[in-house]
Amino acid sequence: MELTALKTTSKRIDILNAMNIYSMEDILYYFPYRYDIIEESYDDHHMIIEATVMTQPKIFFKGKMSRMSFKVVDRYGSNYQVAIFNRHYLRAHLKPSSIITIIGKCQNNKITASDIKIKPLKEIAGIHPVYSLKEGMTQKSFLQYVKKAYQLLKDNLITEVPEEYIIRHHLIHKDIAIYHFHFPENENDIKQSLKYLKYEEFLRFQLTMQLSKLHRYSQNGHAKNVDLDTLQAFIMQLPFKLTHDQSIAVKEIVNDLRKPQMMYRFLQGDVGSGKTVVGAIALYANYLAGYQGALMAPTEILASQHYQTLSKFFKNTKVKVSLLTGSLIIKEKNNIYEELSKGQINIIIGTHALFQKKVNYHHLGLVITDEQHRFGVEQRKALKNKGQQVDFLIMSATPIPRTLAIALYGDMDVSTIKSKPAGRQKVETKFIESSSMKPILKHLKSYLASGGQCYVICPLVDESDKLEVRNVTQISEAMRSYFKEQYQVGLLHGQLKDEEKENIMQQFVDNKIQILVSTTVVEVGVDVKNANMMIIYNAERFGMSQLHQLRGRIGRGNQKAYCYLMSNQASDEAKERLHYLEDNQDGFDISMYDLKVRGPGEVLGERQSGLPSFLVGDVIKDYNILEIAKDDASAMIMAYQNQKMYAYTIERILEKLKENNEYVD
Ligand code: ADP
Ligand code: MG
Repeated sequence: MELTALKTTSKRIDILNAMNIYSMEDILYYFPYRYDIIEESYDDHHMIIEATVMTQPKIFFKGKMSRMSFKVVDRYGSNYQVAIFNRHYLRAHLKPSSIITIIGKCQNNKITASDIKIKPLKEIAGIHPVYSLKEGMTQKSFLQYVKKAYQLLKDNLITEVPEEYIIRHHLIHKDIAIYHFHFPENENDIKQSLKYLKYEEFLRFQLTMQLSKLHRYSQNGHAKNVDLDTLQAFIMQLPFKLTHDQSIAVKEIVNDLRKPQMMYRFLQGDVGSGKTVVGAIALYANYLAGYQGALMAPTEILASQHYQTLSKFFKNTKVKVSLLTGSLIIKEKNNIYEELSKGQINIIIGTHALFQKKVNYHHLGLVITDEQHRFGVEQRKALKNKGQQVDFLIMSATPIPRTLAIALYGDMDVSTIKSKPAGRQKVETKFIESSSMKPILKHLKSYLASGGQCYVICPLVDESDKLEVRNVTQISEAMRSYFKEQYQVGLLHGQLKDEEKENIMQQFVDNKIQILVSTTVVEVGVDVKNANMMIIYNAERFGMSQLHQLRGRIGRGNQKAYCYLMSNQASDEAKERLHYLEDNQDGFDISMYDLKVRGPGEVLGERQSGLPSFLVGDVIKDYNILEIAKDDASAMIMAYQNQKMYAYTIERILEKLKENNEYVD
């Protein structure tokens, strides 16, 4: 229903639009972010009392500011002197003997009021929703709009939750839930209302995911004919034996490739668990079946590193691997475009350059994206659309518990690598309460003297942050002047050109640079086995998963690795997080802790990963509801398929899926 039903001014409608409200339904789903509870309170810091005005208010002006004061008596006979600023216009209503409600702070019977209502307390007592509003809109007028919207829509609310589930889970009905969310009479109203709304939201989400998955299964992909013997021989000649979890992931992926349905699989593993080789084996299997494959990385550094790694893996095969990045010269690019379209390249590795318009594939069969949370959904779709019925594998280094992954990525299949290659030692992690390197200088010197290389990481708030760049620059200069010619110091940050970054990274790989001072651009992927010390400045500014990810850059060979988390301004909570990292090395545990503290949006990069953001539900706190909704959704879908039950709900969601083109095919 259109907003014109409000019969309000176009200026008001503009303000609503600015709040992302475009329909009457949007108003109804614009929920308060908190509630103010008004009841009598004699807490000096938060007084709410009813009182009778005893004296004519006096007003003092100072410029445009005013201060009004008067005496009152409360219903127990106590006297107070009341002062309020900049509300002189209230004077007309403040006649002796009028009954008012005063909200404010009190000291020695002197109240400084933050608000005065010209009403008895009982008329305003209760729970009041507070909405986040744009300038020009008051709480009062917005609440009027909510009332209006509710009147107009309440009889035709669309409910996803079947009556049967309402009864089973002791839920209230939707119209009441929405009413109580905006107009609760007590806290239980809010609780019941939230319970319904969260359940409905998760149920809708689960139905959407599961229906989308079924749709994918119903579509024909290519049943790839993978020569398993040749694949096995390839795996056997790799420089190491696969871990148990790697083998299982490989089996799951190869099975998917051989099935006539398209693969849409999420491969998650802790940093250093060895996802790349699994991706390489998948690409090889796809190649053996006669298809091209693409591996997309979020940065050039990572893409070229993958290129080198895969080239080594494939050196005894006939596979032709190429690297396509934005920094190639036009001639080289054109060459690659041509070879790709002719099918002369079997496996292409690159950044988002892989799915530009100009790029045409010959017979694309498998797309893998690495470190998925850095890619937008749209980018992934674009790449996928380069081929028909392409199999799709997403590798993510932000591990989350498997059950949570399944609940969240309900439209994907999930493979998890938990174990790490044998011989990996834990990274010795220490939180140092200092902003300077002094306490660890001795260790750093002896470590460098023994031939190792070191990362020094500084936080970068955003790419355009000049101050931060100065920060890394200063630190690198300090290191340079300290170590003079003894060790080479490199500087890496987001404002360097791609070639410069590449160049410095390459020098670090070749051990021409021993100390790499860097912002988090090294965060993902890079693999330098001789670098086994990391010093992280301002560690309190990083999320835990990010710190874990960073520290995963070291200890990748069989040498002992050391990570120093430096911070002299950590809050108690931050200290706790940093100490937690000293004692914990498991990415799954760490991400769970991080998810609880910072929420899923921060950890998983929700905007980019396509992780749904929920209006009322919280995937961690309300995890039990999410699980129930997941089971209910699959039961509902089954009942629909067998007996056309719940057709109303299910067909509406199918309709929506088609409309939004959200089918991942
Ligand atoms: P990530 O999962 O963080 O992307 P990588 O794929 O980069 O991890 O692997 C980390 C390192 O472990 C690489 O140097 C890789 O060669 C090595 N590696 C991977 N699998 C094994 C294995 N099964 N045994 C020994 N080393 C392995
Ligand atoms: Mg990786």
